[in-house]
Amino acid sequence: MRYISTRGQAPAMNFEEVLLAGLASDGGLYVPENLPRFTLEQMQSWVGLPYHELAFEVMRPFVAGSISDADFKAILQDTYGVFANKAVAPLRQIDSNEWVLELFHGPTLAFKDFALQLLGRLLDHILTKRGERVVIMGATSGDTGSAAIEGCRRCENVDIFILHPHERVSEVQRRQMTSAISDNIHNIAVEGNFDDCQEMVKDSFADQSFLKGTRLVAVNSINWARIMAQTVYYFHAALQLGAPHRSVSFSVPTGNFGDIFAGYLARNMGLPINQLIVATNRNDILHRFMSGNRYHKDTLHPTLSPSMDIMVSSNFERLLFDMHGRNGALVAELMNSFRATGQLSVEDSRWTEVRKLFDSLAVDDEQTCQTIAQVYAQCGELLDPHTAIGVHAARECRRSMSVPMVTLGTAHPVKFPEAVEKAVPGAAPQLPPHMADLFERQERCTVLANDLKTVQDFVSQHGNRGKPL
Ligand SMILES: *Cc1c(COP(=O)(O)O)cnc(C)c1O
Repeated sequence: MRYISTRGQAPAMNFEEVLLAGLASDGGLYVPENLPRFTLEQMQSWVGLPYHELAFEVMRPFVAGSISDADFKAILQDTYGVFANKAVAPLRQIDSNEWVLELFHGPTLAFKDFALQLLGRLLDHILTKRGERVVIMGATSGDTGSAAIEGCRRCENVDIFILHPHERVSEVQRRQMTSAISDNIHNIAVEGNFDDCQEMVKDSFADQSFLKGTRLVAVNSINWARIMAQTVYYFHAALQLGAPHRSVSFSVPTGNFGDIFAGYLARNMGLPINQLIVATNRNDILHRFMSGNRYHKDTLHPTLSPSMDIMVSSNFERLLFDMHGRNGALVAELMNSFRATGQLSVEDSRWTEVRKLFDSLAVDDEQTCQTIAQVYAQCGELLDPHTAIGVHAARECRRSMSVPMVTLGTAHPVKFPEAVEKAVPGAAPQLPPHMADLFERQERCTVLANDLKTVQDFVSQHGNRGKPL
C-alpha cells in the first residue's frame, strides 16, 4: 500500500515510512493512495470473528508490503488481548434499536487505547527490523498522554516523554500517566498551561538538534496508524447488527474529526453505513461546517467534555481532500487561506454531497448532563460526558428508526466524575477491578520550569532508556 499527501507535493511513502513520518513534508496528512474495497461475501465471512481476527482482515491491506501476515496476526492478538473485557468492544443496548459501543475496556479506559496499544507495538516491530530507536514527545491535557504511555510501556526501541500542565489535569488522569513506571517512560509536569506544553512539543519538532540525530515521532491523532486502527470497530459493531445485508448508523463524539473519519473510511471500504452523526460540544467548528458550510475558527470554550475542547479539527483536511476529488493543489490553497483568515467554506455542490452522509449537532454542558441523567433513569447505564453528547446527537439527528443506531462510547464514566456526579447526584462511578488500586500506586514524574531549553535538556539527558542520548 502506498500513501500520498493531502497537499499533493510530498513524496509517496509505504506504511512503514508513514508510521514514522507524522506530517508530510508539504504540511499535508498522509492518506492511502487507493482504499481497499471489500465484497459482501468477504464481509459476510467475517461475522462472528473475534476482534483481533477481524482486525487482521480489515487492516491487512493497509500494512501489506511492510509487515508479514504472521507477524501482523501475532501483534494484533497481543494488542487486543490486554483489554479487560474479552469482547474487546461490547455493544450495549440502551433503547429500541439503539446501542452504545463500549470502547473503554482498554488499559486507560478510553477509546484511544484501540489505536495507541497497536501503534506502540507496530513501532517496536518496525524499529527492531530497522535497528533504530526513536523518541516520542507529546503534550496532553489528559487522555492522549496516558493512552500513549500505556501503548509504549513495553517498547524496547522507544522512549516517550509526555508533557502535562502541572496541577491542571484530573487526579485519575495524572495517576494513569505517572503510575506507569519504566526506564523508557518520562512524565514531565510543566509549570505552565496546556498550550505551553503543546508549543514546546511543536518547537521541538521544528528544531530537533537537541536529539543528536535520534528521530522524533508524533503520536497525535494525525498519525495514520491511529485512524486505520479505528476503522475496525465500525465493522465489528455493524457485523453484529446485521451488516453487510443491513445498514447501520453511527453517532460519534468528536473534536479532531479522527474517530468519525475512520467511520467514513469504513463506509468507503464497503461497510453499509446509512448515516454518520458528528457530535460536538460547544467547541463546534465541525457542526458549523456540517450545518452551514462555515468552517470558521472560534475561541476555545472549556466544557465538561474536555477531550473534545478544540478550536480546529486536525483530521478535517483528510475529508476536504476527498471532497475536492483528491486534488492536493486545491487543498493546499484552501488550507493556506484558512491559516491566513481562520475561515473556510467549500463550493455548494461539494458541501451538499457530503451532507448526504453526515449530520451534526453541538451539545452544551446542560444538555450533556440531562442526557446522562435520562439514560441512567431509562436503563441504569452511567455514560461519560463525551458519550452522552453522542447519544443526544443520535436521538436528535436520527433519520430512520428502523436502522440500528450506534453511539461510540468513548470513555468510562469514572474518568469524568465531575459531570457524572452533577448529572446523577450520589452516583459515584467505580474504577473497574483491574484499576481498583490506582490511588495506591507509586507515581513517577518530574516537575520542570516552563522553559523550552530546560525541557529539551531533560529529554536529551534521559532519551535512551533513562540515559543520555
Ligand atoms: C479523544 C477523545 C474524543 C475525540 O476524539 P477525536 O479524535 O477528536 O475524534 C472523544 N472522547 C474521548 C473520551 C476522547 O478521549
